[in-house]
Amino acid sequence: MTADIIDGKAFAATIRDKVSGHVARLREEHGITPGLAVVLVGEDPASQVYVRSKGKQTVEVGMHSVEHKLEVDTSEADLLALIEQLNSDPAVHGILVQLPLPDHLDSDLVINSIDPAKDVDGFHISNVGLLGTGQKSMVPCTPLGCLMMLRDKLGSLSGMDAVVLGRSNIVGKPMAQLLLGESCTVTIAHSRTKDLPEVVRRADIVVAAVGRPEMVPGDWIKPGATVIDVGINRIERDGKTKLVGDVDFASVQEVAGAVTPVPGGVGPMTIACLLANTVTACCRANGLAEPE
Ligand code: NDP
Repeated sequence: MTADIIDGKAFAATIRDKVSGHVARLREEHGITPGLAVVLVGEDPASQVYVRSKGKQTVEVGMHSVEHKLEVDTSEADLLALIEQLNSDPAVHGILVQLPLPDHLDSDLVINSIDPAKDVDGFHISNVGLLGTGQKSMVPCTPLGCLMMLRDKLGSLSGMDAVVLGRSNIVGKPMAQLLLGESCTVTIAHSRTKDLPEVVRRADIVVAAVGRPEMVPGDWIKPGATVIDVGINRIERDGKTKLVGDVDFASVQEVAGAVTPVPGGVGPMTIACLLANTVTACCRANGLAEPE
């Protein structure tokens, strides 16, 4: 058996097309241009790449893009003042503070200072609580992208056994909440989980978000399962730098029913969902119907 490859790049392009349509409609019918502000503190190379890519795609779908690049030694007070300014800027509907922040800044304090209505990353404690209680919220972009791919591939997820590998606030926990919301039976595994291969073998759906290159081999996967690989790991192989996921793609592809590649799977979906969340935030702020 060879698994279907879930093409996140193509799926993300269809989401961006829809977002472009919504942006055009908002502008033509209501004279509103959705705006996304991205704040980057310091010069982490991976973060710089993400921020550049987000800014470029924001402009490509017709939205207003604001980038604030701050020095690595920016004080917490200055960062909070900038967020306050963005919170009250009517041209900004979404605010994203690129993580990780330098150590001297309190990430929780910073994220919780963003207006929850503009928190397009869905990390503010209010949005976390709303998601956890099944209420309308801003859903974190990476888990949202994973869920969209799962729904597209499988239709109803009700009753399926899902294993989420990883319990971070950014990916693992919100992913588990979303799958629970779809009526899956959800197990969250982490570094202290016993008999991890056995736990993973029970799953109809595996979402791997551990940050360990190619950790999950094919013989952990139930035949026909759907595997979503969130990991982005940079490794050296044959003298070259290569991006690999948290699953061993070659062996998993032999067993799974469907699997996302790295790159070209979850990554592009994450940015597409960020753009979609910004349009949603803009519609909510203006009392307009949200896109489906
Ligand atoms: P974190 O480091 O915050 O969390 C990793 C999780 O994996 C932890 O819960 C940890 O367990 C668990 N873990 C680590 N090692 C093992 C192990 N050997 N066995 C079982 N569980 C283990 O990572 P993130 O959630 O932020 O990111 C995970 C991966 O996803 C990374 O590769 C990251 O680059 C990628 N990523 C990709 C995105 C995308 O857009 N595609 C977006 C965000 C992240 P414990 O809690 O016990 O320590």
